[in-house]
Amino acid sequence: MSDKSGHITMLHGAGGTVMHDLVKNYIVRYLGGIAKVEVPLEAMDDAAVVNDIVFKSDSHAVKPIFFPGGDIGRLSISGTVNDISMLGAQPIALASGFILEEGLAIADLERILSSMRQTCLEAEVGIVTGDTKVVEKGMLGGCVMNVSGMGKRTLALERNLEVVKKYRKEFAARWTLDSNLRVGDKIILSGTIGDHGLAVLSAQEGLKFGSEIRSDVKPLNKLIQRLLGEVGGIVTMKDPTRGGLADCLHEYTEKSKTGILIQENKVPIRSDVRAACEMLGLDPLEVGNEGKVVIGAVAEKAEELLTLLQGTVEGKNAQIIGEVTSEFSGVGMQTVVGGKRVIARPVGDPVPRIC
Ligand code: MG
Repeated sequence: MSDKSGHITMLHGAGGTVMHDLVKNYIVRYLGGIAKVEVPLEAMDDAAVVNDIVFKSDSHAVKPIFFPGGDIGRLSISGTVNDISMLGAQPIALASGFILEEGLAIADLERILSSMRQTCLEAEVGIVTGDTKVVEKGMLGGCVMNVSGMGKRTLALERNLEVVKKYRKEFAARWTLDSNLRVGDKIILSGTIGDHGLAVLSAQEGLKFGSEIRSDVKPLNKLIQRLLGEVGGIVTMKDPTRGGLADCLHEYTEKSKTGILIQENKVPIRSDVRAACEMLGLDPLEVGNEGKVVIGAVAEKAEELLTLLQGTVEGKNAQIIGEVTSEFSGVGMQTVVGGKRVIARPVGDPVPRIC
């Protein structure tokens, strides 16, 4: 562990190597290996698979609970809906656990609930059970919450897998897992990176960046079902949340045992996000997102997937950013000035408590 004192630090929740070590060396070591299921805890994927149902739990402790472009309610619904969607499933039901802090304004609770309702309607999935607790005034910043959910296989996922098998005979995976990438697959990013992390940071620190940077937080399940059903050829998907695109690509290379080379000039970044990152000394590749998907697809379908994406609101800035290679392991980037550089796995997201 990075903290020699033997205590939890903020980095343990920041999505990079420190958090992954905590999850692997403690949580999975104690709790893994008990349930014999298709995709278990120890796979450390976006969600688990139990009796053909995708199952996910996600807690949210974003600070502050309201930020440009979103709030803890929209974030918690989108986070769970998106993680279920990343395996190729369609969410069918959600559960919510609220931990409210003494002193939270009822008007703020209503704002959060209204935002959750709106997001549920967008994603066409509802909360069916839950729990509410209250704790004394302290460090919660109003509330923290958990949303869990279940998802099921769809016709679109089956069609997608058939398309993959057309180009890759040996493909046997039943879900779009992190371990499915093979040499030659293309990596597609659905839009600009860094927006969410910087929107939350601006709210945390009261920073103004000239133009208002808004979070990209949104449910992606409908877009993903369209990509699977109308084009197909997707072998894996992952949402680049804490630790950003860099951490997401490292998860892929580690679990698929491959290398990934991305092209710097293809990674979409808003100019105001880029400028703010430069000013603050942040790497936009390491900043978290809440409305983006990184897709691994067979090369033969990448252009078609890109065309569909670019015709949607959520995917209008999508790009094919790179491909899977056997030339090296880990993540590399072809830079705009001509060289190649190694993208190191982030220690943790540079912005604390973004989700
Ligand atoms: Mg995820």
